[in-house]
Amino acid sequence: MPAVETHGFYTENSEGSRFSGYQLASEIRETLAKTESILEDLTIWYAEFQASRVDPLIREAAGRVLEYCTKQLGISWPVSLVWVEEEGPEDRELAKGTEGRFWNSYPSDVKLFGWAQYMGDKIYVVHDRDVWDVMRTIAHELKHIRKNEMEKEAREADAFAYADQVISDIQRNPSLIGY
Ligand SMILES: [Zn+2]
Repeated sequence: MPAVETHGFYTENSEGSRFSGYQLASEIRETLAKTESILEDLTIWYAEFQASRVDPLIREAAGRVLEYCTKQLGISWPVSLVWVEEEGPEDRELAKGTEGRFWNSYPSDVKLFGWAQYMGDKIYVVHDRDVWDVMRTIAHELKHIRKNEMEKEAREADAFAYADQVISDIQRNPSLIGY
């Protein structure tokens, strides 16, 4: 048992050993760094995925629903699709800090299908999802892209409702998007 020092302030860790304030500060910094690295490990990154490698059926359906909804919503500027996929851990070091790598979620989040910037001209779509989910995502995001003064929650409900409507219309009548 080491002699108890009489200067500085002290606290006890779980094992009951003593740390001076300075040691404690460095422990805290270390813990924060560890927490950061754990969060980084838990973060799901989405990296750009070459359009040419996307399942052609999905790409085709996506293009058609994009055109259909853009017209229907009266969006006057061109909107393009950016295909993304979850980045594997093996790509992580390579991809860090490069463009075309997009942060998004944690495993505890709801499953991500896509995102877009309000009034933007790009929709980010996770490519390896069910074709209906991909189409629904594009309709949903296009509704967001269009100017909308609603509160955030109402906007979300509005986008979901619009996407559901589009999908049910297309399911009833595929010729709406030329099938
Ligand atoms: Zn949304």
